[in-house]
Parts: sequence; structure tokens; C-alpha cells
Amino acid sequence: MVAEVTEGQHQVAYGDEQIVFTLRRQPARVVPRIAIHVEADGRVEVDAPPSTPLAAVLAAVRKRSRWISQHVSAARARLAHVLPREYVSGESIQYLGKRYRLKVIVQADARPEAKLRGVFLVVRAPNHDATVIRACIDAWYRSRAREVFEARLKVVAEPLRWVRQLPPFRLQFMTRQWGSCSPSGRLTLNPWLVAAPREAIDYVLLHEMCHLKHHNHSRSFYATLTRHLPDWERVKTRLDDQVEVILRR
Ligand SMILES: [Zn+2]
Repeated sequence: MVAEVTEGQHQVAYGDEQIVFTLRRQPARVVPRIAIHVEADGRVEVDAPPSTPLAAVLAAVRKRSRWISQHVSAARARLAHVLPREYVSGESIQYLGKRYRLKVIVQADARPEAKLRGVFLVVRAPNHDATVIRACIDAWYRSRAREVFEARLKVVAEPLRWVRQLPPFRLQFMTRQWGSCSPSGRLTLNPWLVAAPREAIDYVLLHEMCHLKHHNHSRSFYATLTRHLPDWERVKTRLDDQVEVILRR
């Protein structure tokens, strides 16, 4: 057991399993007390003010270990049934919340490219190499993401008084995050988010733009978010439920 009061990994025994969690020290104005989260991929994160002794954090985790364990198992079960992609014709591809079918056309002289044609995402490639096809699909997601995010940012930012000019954004494929906002106000967005329905994209963009006003997850942050999207929790839950399908690689 680590005895230091610092950010990092800690663990608590629950029956014969170990609950491993990341402790994040947050200013007391951000997190007034200990808060335990189980992320969609099963990671456990605990936020606590710096003044909370580690012993109190461990006690809180121990007290809720049954709840944590159940949520971690549920998250793992959701992930377990999802098989890795093979990048062959017939597989489903999601874009803006709709399902399309992958159609791989192999032509020896083809330059890899992907195009949406009716219900198909047609990929032309010089061979059946999954790495090539996957790279081609990711490039397609990236270009769709740039266009869709640019358009939605304008719409979502419109009623936000604190956004005087649209924040710059960059795209980065991530497996654990939809987006983030740097202290200087630059957004990083996950191109795979473009697989999700538009309302989920709008929610993520709104969440990140609320960080231009509140650079934390304080009560005021959530108050602002709720004012602009009263049912954000429903949208977030739906997005979290799809995470394993969208991020399935
Ligand atoms: Zn945030």
C-alpha cells in the first residue's frame, strides 16, 4: 500500500479482488469531498481535496467497494462481448449515429480511399491488409470529423456569450476521451466522436466550451452546462453506452 498523499494509483482489497484506483487531488472548491467514478472502460477514479488524508480516501473506497466492483464488472462485461474488427466487407461502421456497411474493393493499382455510398462505406485498397484498410477508414473519420466539428462548433457556440470567437481545435485519436480543453482554450477532439449521433457531438462540444469559462468540473461548470443543455446527463449516458462500439478497433 502506498502511504503517500499524492496523485497516483492505490488499491483496496474487496473479497479476493483488488480495486485499483487513480487518486486525483482536486482543489476543495472543485471537489468539496471525496467523489468516486467508474469510467465507461472500467477504470476507477477518485477525486479528493488535497487536505483529505489518504486513510479517509481508502476508507471511502472500502465503504463503497461493493458498488465499485459491480460497476467495474458491468463495464468489463460490456467490453468483453465486443470482438475486434477485421476490416472486411459486411462489418458495420457508424457515422453520425447511423450504421453503414463496410465494402472493401481490392484493386491492385488502387490508391486507398474511403467514400460513403448509400448504406455503404466503400473502401478501395490495393490489398486486403487490415492495417491499410483501417488507416484508410481512420483518415476518412478524420476528414468527416473536421468538417462536422467545424460546423457544429459554430451552432453550439452561438448562444454562449463567453465564446467571442470559435476556439481552435485539433484532432487526436484517443481511446479514453472524447475531448479536452487546454488552459489556453484550445480544444482537442477525438475524430471517432463523429461516429456518435449529432446530439452527442453537440454535448461534447458544449462540455469543452464550458471549460473556456470554467477550467474545472466545479459546481459552476455543471450549472453552466445544465443551463445550456438541461438533459446533458441523458445524452452522456447514451454516448457512454456506445463507447465500446465506437471505439472498437
Ligand atoms: Zn470536462
